[in-house]
Amino acid sequence: MGEIQIVQGDITRLEVDAIVNAANSSLLGGGGVDGAIHRAAGPALLTACRPLGGCPTGEARITPGFRLKASWVIHTVGPVWHGGDQGEPELLQACYEHSFALALENSIKSIAFPAISSGVYHFPKQAAAVIALESMLAAHNDFEIIIACCFSASDTALYQATINALV
Ligand code: ADP
Repeated sequence: MGEIQIVQGDITRLEVDAIVNAANSSLLGGGGVDGAIHRAAGPALLTACRPLGGCPTGEARITPGFRLKASWVIHTVGPVWHGGDQGEPELLQACYEHSFALALENSIKSIAFPAISSGVYHFPKQAAAVIALESMLAAHNDFEIIIACCFSASDTALYQATINALV
């Protein structure tokens, strides 16, 4: 049975088999965590993403991690929040499920996620944390460690309170 760890910090620094990128549908880089991952991985990441031809919302694609400590980057496209009645919760859950499925196919044992859609895509943070942590709880038997990587102290506190309420 694997562990779920809530960690505060920069996901690009983590020594795990795979980190997940909150990408946009072009897969050609962007701001936020996406920009940080491309900067840390180096230009070969963009070269690897280009032939993938983008990725629909809720799905995921995998590339090597290049200069990252992580061997793999799983790129998933979270939903933009439009009020909640356009399938946003289901699409966010699908991001986690598709990321875990790709990880299993590639024998990945340790994986770290950022708070997908919780930045410029404006998914309400509390609701996003519930979906993230429920998805991790559903998958944790398949992995040695799943890290929820929070960037800010307030996000870390929110994740901690959320997981305490779920388990
Ligand atoms: P989205 O477009 O899916 O909302 P963002 O990159 O804007 O993606 O934000 C997703 C989350 O990633 C936010 O909570 C943001 O604070 C966080 N974040 C930004 N940079 C990093 C980083 N280097 N490591 C981990 N999390 C990060």
